[in-house]
Amino acid sequence: MSAPAPALLLAAQRHLSDCHLCPHDCGTVRAQARGVCRVGQASYIASEMLHMGEEELLRPAHAIFLSGCTATCSFCTAARFAFRPTYGVTVSPQQLAARILQRQAEGARALAFIGGDPVPHLPFILAVRAALGSALRIPLVLNSNFYVTPAALAFMDGVVDIYLPDLKFGPPGAHGDCGATLGGMPGYWPVLTATLAALHAQGKRLLVRHLLMPGHFDCCTEPVLRFLATLPSVEVSLLTQYVAPAHARGVLAAPLPAADVARAQALAATLGLHLVT
Ligand code: SF4
Ligand SMILES: [Zn+2]
Repeated sequence: MSAPAPALLLAAQRHLSDCHLCPHDCGTVRAQARGVCRVGQASYIASEMLHMGEEELLRPAHAIFLSGCTATCSFCTAARFAFRPTYGVTVSPQQLAARILQRQAEGARALAFIGGDPVPHLPFILAVRAALGSALRIPLVLNSNFYVTPAALAFMDGVVDIYLPDLKFGPPGAHGDCGATLGGMPGYWPVLTATLAALHAQGKRLLVRHLLMPGHFDCCTEPVLRFLATLPSVEVSLLTQYVAPAHARGVLAAPLPAADVARAQALAATLGLHLVT
């Protein structure tokens, strides 16, 4: 993909003073860092590394972890920086571009922006991409919860090569609404399903991750897998390494049952999903 045009950069920068990048739709808040994500006008980098833990097609990725998140998942294992938007260091787009090119030379097969969530940082990411120009030869990956607005999606168009959504929660039902109550994202299911269906219809490369959570097979895993089966050829990565953080409560404090992993793999096979590892 190519570097973003100056007009796109300017349009993205406007969200630093009037932010509508995600459905929390905070408005004029970024200067005071008072949006739901509390990300201010500066982007803080919690860490960056050549990461061997991603899916095979991305390994090793140059992973850049940006602090702050639009979600507030009660079982987050990255709370250290996801809920502390000023954790880490700030660098200029040109400085980060130089590190990215260094990592590319070291063998990175992909450049992956991760969080927390990278969506509040789209203005910074676009500035970094502009600084990279034609020197970037590896695909740009955005790993996000994809709780996003059409405005945010428009900024990704032509910049993101591989869309890597974490589709964690299922639809609201008699059990409640996991996306809202556990993830802090009202309207999660309609936003996510509409967004992923639109990206799929546009022919974008989609690799969707689903984290299996203890006690959430019926409400989350099954409907998520059934939805993904409506998107032919989408690549699906089942994350089965759930480890409850100390602050997890209720069923989410338990280990993930091996039976749930087996059920998910069997359902994915029945549905004909294209699983990747
Ligand atoms: S990205 Fe942050 S500031 Fe912007 S609308 Fe979402 S929560 Fe609010
Ligand atoms: Zn659930």
